Amino acid sequence: MPTRDTTIVLLFALAAVALLLVNPALWFLSALLVLFALGARLLLRGLSTDQTDHAPPANCPDCGAPNDPDATTCQYCDAAL
Ligand SMILES: [Zn+2]
Repeated sequence: MPTRDTTIVLLFALAAVALLLVNPALWFLSALLVLFALGARLLLRGLSTDQTDHAPPANCPDCGAPNDPDATTCQYCDAAL
């Protein structure tokens, strides 16, 4: 979800700019917000890649054996998946 990631980073960047406008002495808090936004974005991206990397195997409806998600027939009993 690149759009959600970008929205989160934009929100944090806006908050950082607003904070700078309200009180320039809090520039370090703004920097912290931006760093946090980038970290959250990396974390979200890591979580989403984790989900795609660990795609659950397709279980055969006939014998219940785990099969490759791309397979069309069961490798154990040849039933259609
Ligand atoms: Zn099977």
